[in-house]
Amino acid sequence: MKTRQILKRARELAAPFRVTRGETFCLESVDPGDTLDLKAEDRPRAKEALAMGVEALAELQDMLYAQDRWALLLIFQAMDAAGKDGAIKHVMSGLNPQGCQVFSFKSPSAEDLDHDYLWRCMKCLPNRGHIGIFNRSYYEETLVVRVHPEFLGKQKLPPELVGKGIWQERFQDIRCFERYLGRNGIAVRKFFLHVSKKEQKRRFLERIENPEKNWKFSANDAKERGHWDAYMNAYEDMIRHTATKDAPWFVVPADNKWFTRVVVAAAIIDALAAMKPAYPEVGAGKQKELALARRALNQK
Ligand code: ATP
Ligand code: MG
Repeated sequence: MKTRQILKRARELAAPFRVTRGETFCLESVDPGDTLDLKAEDRPRAKEALAMGVEALAELQDMLYAQDRWALLLIFQAMDAAGKDGAIKHVMSGLNPQGCQVFSFKSPSAEDLDHDYLWRCMKCLPNRGHIGIFNRSYYEETLVVRVHPEFLGKQKLPPELVGKGIWQERFQDIRCFERYLGRNGIAVRKFFLHVSKKEQKRRFLERIENPEKNWKFSANDAKERGHWDAYMNAYEDMIRHTATKDAPWFVVPADNKWFTRVVVAAAIIDALAAMKPAYPEVGAGKQKELALARRALNQK
């Protein structure tokens, strides 16, 4: 497939899952088991497409790096066992690690809690020319913290600032923050890997049964499952209030890992292509330098 065709296909694949205006978004409208027109028997073809996609991604990344102007921030959010780690690993497999940074955000440390909630994420924003990946992010502030409001109590906020409107205020602040990033040349793309409760149960049981996967199982993950509906409501509200044209959410069906990875790769390719990365043009001075160097090398 030619590059132009790959870019077109990437756009087509990602489009059905992109949310740019959240007001009317309804989580129920996305089926976690959806694979579009691809069937289980198309899996090998999907894997092939992913390999080609990863190659296209590597080319785009190389230009992004050489150009040294834009950066891309990719945010991954999901329930446990939805496949965040696997998607990140597969999609990024062909990238140059030198131009790529991955950060995981877990429960905040004492030092984190001594600052505003964006502080720890700000420190991890990607350099120009780089792709930054957040495995969880400041969005946890509207998810786990909303489902467990007792976490708010640990944030040392002045009590008069913690009211009923706090989640709306956080959405507003996040929208403004992402607009600020966009205006500074950091494009933002956000992924919610949408797994079903049934498939999560299957994956948890597999982690318990398979000794090689035992290490992945955490009793706390299973406990959080008890708050499933509260999390779904929080995710839906978050997407409704923070999906924008410049920083869209992709709500990606996650019951079939092969499909999730293809859609995520497609969305990243599309985001990079939109920046129109190109190798810097070489001016007359540089041309002269190259000609001199060529002559000198050929003389030895
Ligand atoms: P995996 O389970 O695949 O290793 P993970 O991202 O779930 O990956 P964990 O160490 O299991 O990693 O979990 C991180 C935990 O930290 C999650 O339960 C998440 O909700 C929690 N967390 C992240 N940010 C915050 C926050 N700001 N406040 C409170 N808890 C948070
Ligand atoms: Mg976990």
